Amino acid sequence: MTGCLFCRIAAHESVAEVDYEDDEVIAFKDIYPKAPVHVLIIPKRHISSLMAIEPEHTDVLGRCLLVARRLGEAKGFAERGYRIVVNSGPEGGQVIDHVHFHFLAGRRPPRD
Ligand code: AMP
Ligand code: ZN
Repeated sequence: MTGCLFCRIAAHESVAEVDYEDDEVIAFKDIYPKAPVHVLIIPKRHISSLMAIEPEHTDVLGRCLLVARRLGEAKGFAERGYRIVVNSGPEGGQVIDHVHFHFLAGRRPPRD
């Protein structure tokens, strides 16, 4: 989608520190990390938000979660655990309108 920062990162038109990539999914470091390890996992195809998902998107969204598992194992958090966050919509704290899974590790999450 023209003008979407995360589509540009997926197409390697904008720079990012890539941790994982395949045909459908890319994972890169968040530029303003909120935890010692903070990676964003996104589908390469543009999906604006979890609030806009359709049945045809479930495969790639599941692949994003498998990438989270793989990152957790690769980074030494398979046992310790990590937090996956998907901010959705304006009142859900979503700033970038391309669905993304925050992978946060290395610190205990705040209690809600
Ligand atoms: P959200 O508030 O859930 O939409 O999260 C957007 C995230 O994208 C924030 O954590 C930002 O720090 C991050 N971000 C913004 N621009 C970039 C960028 N160019 N590369 C990597 N992460 C970014
Ligand atoms: Zn996009």
